[in-house]
Amino acid sequence: MTTTPFVHEGLPVRVVFGAGSRHRVGEELDRLGLSQVVLIASGSSRAEADALVTALDHRLTWRVDGVRQHVPAELAARVAEDAARVAADGVVTLGGGSATGLGKALARETGMPLVAVPTTYAGSEMTPIWGITSEGRKTTGRDVRVLPKTVVYDPDLTYTLPPSTTAASGMNAVAHSLEALWSAGASPLSAPLALEGARVLCEALPGLLADPTNARGRSRALVAACQAGMALASAGPGLHHRLCHLLGGRYDMPHAQTHAALLPHVVAFNEPVLGPLSARMAVAVGAGRASTGLYDLCVRLGLPTALSELGMPAAGVEEVAAEVAADPPANPRDVEADCLRALLRAAWAGDHPA
Ligand code: NAD
Repeated sequence: MTTTPFVHEGLPVRVVFGAGSRHRVGEELDRLGLSQVVLIASGSSRAEADALVTALDHRLTWRVDGVRQHVPAELAARVAEDAARVAADGVVTLGGGSATGLGKALARETGMPLVAVPTTYAGSEMTPIWGITSEGRKTTGRDVRVLPKTVVYDPDLTYTLPPSTTAASGMNAVAHSLEALWSAGASPLSAPLALEGARVLCEALPGLLADPTNARGRSRALVAACQAGMALASAGPGLHHRLCHLLGGRYDMPHAQTHAALLPHVVAFNEPVLGPLSARMAVAVGAGRASTGLYDLCVRLGLPTALSELGMPAAGVEEVAAEVAADPPANPRDVEADCLRALLRAAWAGDHPA
């Protein structure tokens, strides 16, 4: 059998990984020649941000603490205006995907280089994908200017994650991995990263809930989240991400939890047509079928399994199905309104995909 033709674009991002590596941010800024950076930090990262402010010393010109998920357009515009006012030459983010997302919006607006210090498993730091939300609509796009020049991963920063955020952002990363296996740009270069990322996360997440300070588990999960982000960056998003972005923008639903609740249903929808890949996904998830294994894992991790619990109204089934069916993404199985309605109805109710 010959290999299906594919295109892969290697992305220029430097990764610095290791316990304590947060202390190397200053050195990384010097390497990039940045001396007037804006620091964007999640509220929950305040103590670490204070320490970073001290460490960055003269390299820091201004600090932003107000971060919100889905990057509201008015917040991004305000931050860009302030960055221009202080003549910043770079951006450092410290926090989860929301902090990284605001940093990406600033990098896209100004062209400034971005250095990301992630503290969840969201994986946004490894992708050139940006997202901005305005009037209930989340717009996403791909632009290499938003890809961090350097990502500094320090597993020590993840010890303080609440169990629910460990679980939800970890499942968000699993979604990156699995979608990267079937989306339009999937290739033999991205698939091994995707499968390994999913395998390690599905194995590590329950252990991290039982013992949040397990150093080995935290390191493994963070590497896996990085792999999942790389796989998604290479293969590109598909049906699952389209649905999550629509839901998040329209109903202001929590991003990572929405991914977790929807994923088993999108996997169940595609599973029958994926051939041997279905079996490989099941092995990665550690179950007889990936879709049912993912649902059971969400239950085990204490995550909501019904989109109705996360703010999706019943009418959303019809609204979202109609919008996606009108302009369907590439997907291994035809995306028709009837199938989408069934998929969304099951996810809204939290039905077991079996
Ligand atoms: P988040 O960044 O909103 O963080 C969730 C919560 O956890 C916040 O309250 C945050 O302050 C807190 N938190 C973060 N790190 C912590 C830590 N170490 N200790 C204690 N608390 C901590 O959530 P997320 O799931 O990381 O990111 C979601 C956002 O990322 C969404 O807006 C989503 O669109 C975006 N995202 C983008 C991509 C992409 O490729 N563009 C990929 C994944 C996610």
